[in-house]
Amino acid sequence: MAATPTRNSTLDAALEEAKRDYAARNPASAASHRAATAAMPGGNTRTVLFYDPFPLTFTRGQGARLWDLDGHEYVDLLGEFTAGVAGHSNPVIRRAIDVALDGGINLGGHNTYEPRLAAAVRSRFPSMELVRFTNSGTEANLLAISTALAATGRKRVMVFRGGYHGAVFVFAPGPNINAPFDFVLADYNDAEGTVAAIEAHAGSLAAVILEPMLGSGGCIPAEAGFLHALRQVTARYGIVLIFDEVMTSRLSPGGLQAVVGVSPDLTTLGKYVGGGMSFGAFGGRADLMARFDPRRADALPHAGTFNNNVLTMAAGIAALTEVYTPAAAVALNARGDALRARLNAVAERAGVAMQATGRGSMLAVHMMGGPIRSPADAAKGNAGARELFFFDMQRAGFWLARRGMMALSLPLGDADCAGFVAAVEDFVAARAPVLGQAELS
Ligand code: PMP
Repeated sequence: MAATPTRNSTLDAALEEAKRDYAARNPASAASHRAATAAMPGGNTRTVLFYDPFPLTFTRGQGARLWDLDGHEYVDLLGEFTAGVAGHSNPVIRRAIDVALDGGINLGGHNTYEPRLAAAVRSRFPSMELVRFTNSGTEANLLAISTALAATGRKRVMVFRGGYHGAVFVFAPGPNINAPFDFVLADYNDAEGTVAAIEAHAGSLAAVILEPMLGSGGCIPAEAGFLHALRQVTARYGIVLIFDEVMTSRLSPGGLQAVVGVSPDLTTLGKYVGGGMSFGAFGGRADLMARFDPRRADALPHAGTFNNNVLTMAAGIAALTEVYTPAAAVALNARGDALRARLNAVAERAGVAMQATGRGSMLAVHMMGGPIRSPADAAKGNAGARELFFFDMQRAGFWLARRGMMALSLPLGDADCAGFVAAVEDFVAARAPVLGQAELS
């Protein structure tokens, strides 16, 4: 499980060596990727999964284990970026999907599953008085924002620098193909600046959308005062407050909103709530969502061939009511808190510029010391050192996101977590000189 020791004196050289080693160990994944480039740009259909020199191709998952095309086995710490909370091939979810399959798919009408999943969502997330389903979190956010525009008659939407709400809602630096809403940007956890910006744009702002903890943005929790300030000022001006809980809803039985005690007007869900199938949902205040009631003469339309597809609906009911129960959510998040504390203790003992942020079962490793309150803070971390961490962990048999993100799943055991902590100990011991350099640069 040990990370490969290195005598390289520079981070660049260490990273180069790690990539060479990676390429040598994964010829089948390399060939698979090469072949894929013939029909997909860069051999890729989901940007986040690509990394240099080529991404791994996986062939199988079981429990909290993954296998790649070259036969390597990994402990899965990524949990499909939070969608895989149940692990691979959970038997309860599998059975639910099998039963749904036996009844035929693509029925072209209402089915008995959708009201049951809606009721389960509503009972777990009480601010979602009425809910509608979509096929992805991106789509849920498109619909939630569009609902706010329709309800308020206003055009602008406040988002946060470094935030992410799906394929067409990328607010990190760099090119994007964002949906053409009139966005107003503010800084995460800057209560004073954000309130001032909202007041300045109050007459034209339809919605403020944010994650109560930035997930892809680096597992950076919102401060309670920031969220309460947002709730107050949006209520004052009739602006729709949207919590994107696509990732964070797993952080307690009732989502992160239940923990922080702030009730948004609309919430979006995705990921694990569909039991690992394609899923999204948006819902909230009954008066806003009732606009979609097709019995009304002025009903807003909401289409989507697969919105109520039986496989997702059945898997979601099983996931919410039998697998990711309130007790399971509490236990998994306690496991995550304990793991984060152990990782931070390792970094502290070694005196390296490294820390794990997040809440509960969502963690992100950053190669820097000091407080991280915003994506701008996190951007000061050493990206090369984090990439080296990614390759070293992979070599040691642990799969996580290249950007250092982890989302724990239910089948992970104590031994998996202990093994990971040991691998991180090996990493900081072997790479301390490089990390030290990283700290100074
Ligand atoms: N919102 C957040 C916070 C997300 O993390 C994601 C996906 N990672 C999305 C929305 C988009 O969900 P999907 O990938 O299902 O479109």
